[in-house]
Amino acid sequence: KRRIGVLTSGGDAPGMNGAVRAVVRMALHSDCEAYAVYEGYEGLVNGGNMIRQMHWEDVRGWLSRGGTLIGSARCMSFRERAGRLRAAKNMVLRGIDALVVCGGDGSLTGADVFRAEWSGLLQELVSAGELTEEQIKPYSVLNIVGLVGSIDNDMSGTDATIGCYSSLTRICDAVDDVFDTAYSHQRGFVIEVMGRHCGWLALMSAISTGADWLFIPEIPPRDGWEDDMCASITKNRKERGKRRTIVIVAEGAQDRQLNKISSSTIKDILTQRLGLDTRTTVLGHTQRGGAACAYDRWLSTLQGVEAVRAVLDMTPTSPSPVITIRENKIMRTPLMEAVQATKDVTAKIHAKDFQAAMTLRDPEFKE
Ligand code: ATP
Repeated sequence: KRRIGVLTSGGDAPGMNGAVRAVVRMALHSDCEAYAVYEGYEGLVNGGNMIRQMHWEDVRGWLSRGGTLIGSARCMSFRERAGRLRAAKNMVLRGIDALVVCGGDGSLTGADVFRAEWSGLLQELVSAGELTEEQIKPYSVLNIVGLVGSIDNDMSGTDATIGCYSSLTRICDAVDDVFDTAYSHQRGFVIEVMGRHCGWLALMSAISTGADWLFIPEIPPRDGWEDDMCASITKNRKERGKRRTIVIVAEGAQDRQLNKISSSTIKDILTQRLGLDTRTTVLGHTQRGGAACAYDRWLSTLQGVEAVRAVLDMTPTSPSPVITIRENKIMRTPLMEAVQATKDVTAKIHAKDFQAAMTLRDPEFKE
């Protein structure tokens, strides 16, 4: 029987458990054995009981559980060849030659590097006397399939990543709660949300809650934004009679010179220029926690099933795929194409070429 491993890596995201559950059960359904690698690449490097065979009932009830029950880690040793050498040895010893990795672009890059080096790693292990030719013979190819687990929705080539809608839901609930107190006291609130280089969570939550103003990294505000923001908020309050003001700022928000726009900077502006009683709320890790929403449960399930299908379809020369969703269809995309396109957007932003960055995200984008 073929043995398929599954691991979660990088930042945790709601829905990762649903993905592991689907991979385990689809593997078993396909007459394969399923193995969970605990603590991300740490488990692969350390082996032992960090790689555990999974049975049907082991993942029972996992759909509704938040975080990742098999653990996740940032593993420095897997970044080094020596760590990947140990990982390759552990996989051969356990008879695992296919890996489904659920994580962000870093984790997927690591998986691709591992696959590219695979036969060289095995040869090195034989030369060092750690494995025999006989032992490595059945494992000439390593199959890798990626699943994108990230609350940030920051991967190119997919409309949604596993976890992003759960996080968005949580942010909306938090903003609704803040609305009530903001209304009661006629206050302003500046709410900082996660997303690193990607403004998706901030943009979608601002639309979903009807926020007054928004800052995202991809479209830095034009110079003089302080006046624009104050004028708009004043209009909302004085002419339209709004009792509460909500500004949403992505953690990676910046101006056109790439200076960070922080929640405290915005708060000071609103307080000093408008005399508005303003508070800041940094939502932090509550955005990551809790049960997966319905969307992430079905997305992770369908994508986990597709990941196993992709493992079984792979040939030695086919590029590693990442499972995506586009216009509601579950698809396979070459993994490194998606990772490279993601890096290209970030590079354009760092080069202050914001129009090009947005055009990469959406060819029809106009500011
Ligand atoms: P998130 O989007 O939540 O940060 P991520 O997968 O991008 O997730 P990283 O910290 O970049 O998170 O990567 C997770 C792990 O993947 C790293 O700790 C490391 O073990 C492995 N990894 C990342 N990049 C590489 C690489 N270039 N080569 C080998 N391993 C890598």
